Amino acid sequence: MNQIVVVGASLAGLRACQNLRRENFEGKLTLVGAEKHLPYDRPPLSKSMLTTDQDPNELTLISEPDLSKLDLELLLGTPATHLDTGTQEVTVGDEKIHYDGLIIATGARARNLFKTDVTDGIHALRTVDDALAIRSALESSSSVVIVGAGFIGSEVAAAARLRGCEVTIVEANDAPLVRGLGHQVGSACGSLHEAAGVDLRLGLEVTTVYGGPTVEEVELNDGSRVPADLVVVGIGASPNTEWLKDSGLTINDGVVCDKTLNAGIPGIYAAGDVARAPNQWLGTTPLRTEHWTAATEHAALAAKNLLQPANSTAYGSVPFVWSDQYEDRIQVAGDTTKFDEVSILMGSTDERAFVAAYRQGQRLAGVAALNNMRPFVQYRRLLMTHGQWSDALDLSEEMKH
Ligand SMILES: Cc1cc2nc3c(=O)[nH]c(=O)nc-3n(C[C@H](O)[C@H](O)[C@H](O)COP(=O)(O)OP(=O)(O)OC[C@H]3O[C@@H](n4cnc5c(N)ncnc54)[C@H](O)[C@@H]3O)c2cc1C
Repeated sequence: MNQIVVVGASLAGLRACQNLRRENFEGKLTLVGAEKHLPYDRPPLSKSMLTTDQDPNELTLISEPDLSKLDLELLLGTPATHLDTGTQEVTVGDEKIHYDGLIIATGARARNLFKTDVTDGIHALRTVDDALAIRSALESSSSVVIVGAGFIGSEVAAAARLRGCEVTIVEANDAPLVRGLGHQVGSACGSLHEAAGVDLRLGLEVTTVYGGPTVEEVELNDGSRVPADLVVVGIGASPNTEWLKDSGLTINDGVVCDKTLNAGIPGIYAAGDVARAPNQWLGTTPLRTEHWTAATEHAALAAKNLLQPANSTAYGSVPFVWSDQYEDRIQVAGDTTKFDEVSILMGSTDERAFVAAYRQGQRLAGVAALNNMRPFVQYRRLLMTHGQWSDALDLSEEMKH
């Protein structure tokens, strides 16, 4: 293999390049990125970048000397627009770049479903430029409406509140984080907002945005109106796959991959938020995750499997995600989306410090912890060894003594 192209110059793309070099790939390596910035870390965008005056350069994922050691052709600010799997070429601007191996790491972008003539003061958050725009808007806003109480919406709400704004969260479900954590744990996490004085409007949706050109007010489907100088929409993300149209790859809310992250054509792999692939730990159904840890793990595996297809291994890892809101930390591992029972094994929801365990049949399927980092690590280890529900109960007894 002489030439590898990696498309998407963020976490998964950069880590893929680093792993290719670590695995002794000495050929030509090209990294193509739509953004003009060097690869940077996204989790701080909804946390320290909004709560402090952090310099965006601090988010860069690689130092200049380490970057030059990778010996990359780095094409930034230039999206790939087409993939021809017949001629094995990626189109970037006017150029067609040949590849022997390709890693697709084009991630996802924030969804923004609003149809409104109000043009100013409505933001979504995915990029460092989005974060800078929201930070600047927060400086002059007194009333902020957050649409969607997922992790990103919740973190932005916390940041806005910490900056002294009046904050309203509008969430269609009956609790924050309900899709990922279920009602009980989602409600417990939602109490962080209530304790901070955020107005949590649950089971409601924004129907109309008033203002012009700057947002002034939003109307909800119960007819109520909420003043807003700033609206931040946090209703999920869509994978960046448009450039793969007519490529012959299977696209279905992401690039559909097998368990080795191969995208269905030899020499083409996907990694990170754009990949829809099975996770052996969870079973055989392909799924797309939007987690930092999965993106780094995917990148390492895609690089290895691309270079050694005969020794390919499957992706399998306990899913893990964290979220920082106010002074509090939520950590989630395993599968917390489907369960027969949720039990608070340590602490209590009232104290806003607990470990909740999720049971599927007789097995421990997942764990969610609020402000309980040390115990969480023990339960995460148990998930890694496919612990049973009884093991989780034993562990909680052990930790109480
Ligand atoms: C605000 C925010 C907070 C987050 N917080 C957490 C957290 O606390 N914990 C956690 O586990 N995860 C968190 N995440 C998720 C985590 O950051 C992502 O899982 C991770 O960034 C995925 O990396 P990626 O490289 O796959 O995709 P991305 O980071 O989306 O990068 C994809 C890159 O590809 C580029 N691209 C797109 N199309 C093209 C094209 N056609 N050609 C070239 N380049 C292209 C994009 O511009 C982008 O730079 C957060 C995400 C966001 C947005």
